[in-house]
Amino acid sequence: MLFRQLFDPVSSTYTYLLADVAAGTAVLVDPVFEQARRDSALIRELGLQLQYTVETHVHADHVTAAWRHQQLLGSRIIVSAGAGAEGADRCVAHGELIEFGQCALVVRETPGHTAGCITLVLGDKSLAFTGDCLLVRGCGRTDFQGGDARTMYRSIHEQIFSLPSSCQLYPGHDYNGNTVTTVAEEREFNPRLGGLLSEADFVGYMQNLGLPHPKQIDVAVPANRRCGYSEAAAAAIAIDADQAWAPLVFTYAGFWEVPAHWVEEHLGSVQLVDVREPEEFTGSLGHIEGARLLPLGELKGALESLDRDRPVVTVCRAGGRSAQAAVLLQRAGFGKVANLGGGMLRWHAQGLPVTGS
Ligand code: FE
Repeated sequence: MLFRQLFDPVSSTYTYLLADVAAGTAVLVDPVFEQARRDSALIRELGLQLQYTVETHVHADHVTAAWRHQQLLGSRIIVSAGAGAEGADRCVAHGELIEFGQCALVVRETPGHTAGCITLVLGDKSLAFTGDCLLVRGCGRTDFQGGDARTMYRSIHEQIFSLPSSCQLYPGHDYNGNTVTTVAEEREFNPRLGGLLSEADFVGYMQNLGLPHPKQIDVAVPANRRCGYSEAAAAAIAIDADQAWAPLVFTYAGFWEVPAHWVEEHLGSVQLVDVREPEEFTGSLGHIEGARLLPLGELKGALESLDRDRPVVTVCRAGGRSAQAAVLLQRAGFGKVANLGGGMLRWHAQGLPVTGS
């Protein structure tokens, strides 16, 4: 099984990618709206198909990417039956299996943070995703969305601490850089409800947290009750359509790539910026007709000479320096920028015409 822990630094949310590599099927647990492009790039680069997105609960601190992935990748949305969200393809209850290839997650209802929280346990109980119920040396808050400290204490003790001691626990958030813990560790060291701490001790602790109102709650909860659909979400997909000037592919490394054959057919409509050194430009690989030589080291100083309204395609020998150039242009506010994937080497390999060699 393939497993990745992905992080959204704005909301400190963890998203988990799980996949049966042999079957090619993947599941995303708690995907974040703003990270949808990154996550779908990783899924594509790993050669996987996203089968499901699964929410551990209706989040108050970020908008889920469930609807966005459903629209763009065709994945199915799973939420807990108790979540009270509309628009899901499947609602799961305690004990149900979420199968992907030969692997499965087992649903355990763990209310307390919200009334509809679930923990997802891998079939062999080697790891579990606790959402905002149990966090590393902490737990989720219990003061809104049907939260209840007594209920949370029982959920954690009965449904999470009953897992094998070595079971690895992956939280929905961490604000200190912790990534994982185990059942044994939290049973002993969780300062809120581990060791000899009783339910009454825990309730007293939770009543005195004094946390501020979550900043995103007024936006996030209504959107998440619709599995991440909102007018803003629909508009964001439309912004993606802005990248429709070419059959672009977003990379997990963080830039857009454009295929060589498309560039060859549209030479007149793009600004081709070749960021190699002059001797390479006229060397054995030659260059693409109409390309402008602008070595990477000089690009920053020459931004004003580029047309911001016309698409820019960056080129180099193998696609590395030009990727750096594409990122530099993106950061400088150029809206339509793409790297020529594979550079001049792939251009040659595809038998496309060159000049000046
Ligand atoms: Fe939460």
